[in-house]
Amino acid sequence: MRDTTVDTEQTHAEGVLDSTVEPSSDVKPILEVRNLHVSYDTVRGPIQAVRGLSFQLMPNEVLGLAGESGSGKSTLALALLRMIKSPGRIVEGEVLLDGRDLLSLSEREMRHVRLADIAMVAQGAMNSLNPVMRIRDQIIDAWTDHGIRYGRQESEERVADLLRWVGLRPDVARLYPHELSGGMKQRVVIAIAISLRPRVIIADEPTSALDVVVQRQIISTLRRVQTDLQAAVILIGHDIGLMAQSVQKLGIMYAGKVAEMSPVYEMFDEPMHPYTRMLIDSLPSPDQKGQLRGIPGITPSLLDPPPGCAFNDRCPYALERCTTEIPALEEKRPNRMVACHLFTEGQ
Ligand code: ATP
Ligand code: SF4
Repeated sequence: MRDTTVDTEQTHAEGVLDSTVEPSSDVKPILEVRNLHVSYDTVRGPIQAVRGLSFQLMPNEVLGLAGESGSGKSTLALALLRMIKSPGRIVEGEVLLDGRDLLSLSEREMRHVRLADIAMVAQGAMNSLNPVMRIRDQIIDAWTDHGIRYGRQESEERVADLLRWVGLRPDVARLYPHELSGGMKQRVVIAIAISLRPRVIIADEPTSALDVVVQRQIISTLRRVQTDLQAAVILIGHDIGLMAQSVQKLGIMYAGKVAEMSPVYEMFDEPMHPYTRMLIDSLPSPDQKGQLRGIPGITPSLLDPPPGCAFNDRCPYALERCTTEIPALEEKRPNRMVACHLFTEGQ
């Protein structure tokens, strides 16, 4: 394995939370999701993977989405880009990019949006690089797919710039994926994702299968390109310790819905939703490092979700109405969105 990583991360690793977004009534969301429902049709009925999800992503904001396996994170990421494949389908909702509903675009228009406006670092993408193509050609392919062609010299220069941008040496361009480490492959995937300077980047588990040091470097690279591009990022993952250090706002997903979405410091300081609280309490070490291991009990079936709050059979604070009424995600304190009846009961 060749070491062709440029050592840029040390300088950027510190202060990853530099670009905090101050809420302002003048700033409009770059991405707004309204009442999104996504199902997978199976012989046993539809699996309701995303159930009426709504949230806003502000320009330059870094939003984390965490949740146990099966809570709908990847389904949401794919749905935002209309990349849900059969038997999955978007049942209803709106995905507004700068006010334009992506769900109403033609497939041709949507192809342009992918990469040019919203880029995806998909789960396991580094293992999907074409094994028989040099890195250079895979990066150029992304432009060509969007009808962009540069001369040979300009292409070489652009590829070199992109590789440097993600912390790789330009000579990585002539290598094949098997000649790269996992971290280097993930940087190549990020280089492809940012090649058309998107305004939104969705990264689904970008650090899974990488060791802890490389995980932090990859997050740091993502944060650096995000700052350079002034892009907004949705970072999806299991490791809420890593998330806490990497995002400004964190959404906790449970059974296809958001249980709580809050600025990360406030959430860790004082979790409001009982599920958030139990997750944070269950973190293995006091400095809150480690994988999201979950809490006792199992998540409900999404084939036949319970009528009230989906968390009611695991919740120590459940009220009578929790078994019949779905709690709405509402702003219970400034900037703190919580879906729980406790806060309407004044407790
Ligand atoms: P993980 O963290 O394990 O990636 P996740 O939170 O991303 O999980 P999803 O992969 O979005 O969750 O899955 C949400 C629900 O949809 C789960 O119940 C899952 O079993 C179901 N699901 C996902 N893909 C399919 C599919 N192709 N066919 C049927 N059901 C699916
Ligand atoms: Fe617990 Fe009820 Fe709140 Fe759900 S709505 S988290 S069951 S108290």
